[in-house]
Amino acid sequence: MCALVMPVDDGTRVRPRTPEVERLQHHIRTLAKRKNAVILAHIYQRLEVQEIADFIGDSLNLSREASRTNADIIVFCGVHFMAETAKLLNPKRLVLLPDMKAGCGMADMITADQARAFKAQYPGRPLVTYVNTYAEVKAEADICCTSTNAATVVRSLPDREVLFAPDMYLGGWVQKRLPERRIITWHGYCPTHYVIQPGMVRARKAQHPEALVLAHPECSPEVLELADFVGSTQGIVEFAGRSSASEFLILTEAGLILRLKALHPHKKFYSIAPCPHCPYMKFVELEKVAACLEQELNPIEIPTAIMLRARRSIERMMAVSTSVQPAD
Ligand code: SF4
Repeated sequence: MCALVMPVDDGTRVRPRTPEVERLQHHIRTLAKRKNAVILAHIYQRLEVQEIADFIGDSLNLSREASRTNADIIVFCGVHFMAETAKLLNPKRLVLLPDMKAGCGMADMITADQARAFKAQYPGRPLVTYVNTYAEVKAEADICCTSTNAATVVRSLPDREVLFAPDMYLGGWVQKRLPERRIITWHGYCPTHYVIQPGMVRARKAQHPEALVLAHPECSPEVLELADFVGSTQGIVEFAGRSSASEFLILTEAGLILRLKALHPHKKFYSIAPCPHCPYMKFVELEKVAACLEQELNPIEIPTAIMLRARRSIERMMAVSTSVQPAD
């Protein structure tokens, strides 16, 4: 079933609030309580899906929630690699993904074979993989990172030369922050952030000259050059909250703009035009959340051999994230 959406003033799209939407939301919350399920939603999710979540966050926050929950079921409203990460961190829980088509254009850009070939090309260097990879690629990594902790993770390694996959732009941003290291990047990128071009940013900035430009590090270096602040989705949320500025141009996925507007209704948030939407994130709709919870559809399963190795990479990241003061 395809949810109706309509554009609002800044190009983001929201589903009209109807009695049917409210009935579905109430049904899902009741069902979650009865089945002892926790609902985790990524910030890029549709607004009406964010509204039914127990926790809303970026990859790192949701990983932390997944690792410590005592719920019997984790319904992961996000994309496949995120649900896999939840399963890796809490393998005894039943982890459900509302739509198995919710993949990731960036995660598709590197396979386990390619990760092994990358390591073989540069022997002796550790491989850091962004969490935006599938479990079999994480299994090849020495450690994982998120956009929140990428520089902290690389800094925690003793090696001067480090392999970084799959996002060349996040790797490039880490390189800029850690000039004493050599970051050798894979050639992946996020198709959703790739559409953000410097000309679009300048055009929008000309319309709103007072707005601070806040960008996600998955944007290209030419776009990041134009930003007043570069940070993860959670970093952008926190920056916008503590800033004395009242207008912001947000260079990332549309869901974050909806979240920022909900959190800070007295501030103004603009997007470039057209507003970037991650098609994978938008596969998750209320009807699918309800069906997956009712029938326990789409359980995430990971072969044991991959599970053990991939989990080690994630746990190393979590240990760094909690033991080292993040500077990024
Ligand atoms: S926004 Fe980009 S990196 Fe994130 S899930 Fe979508 S395609 Fe993947």
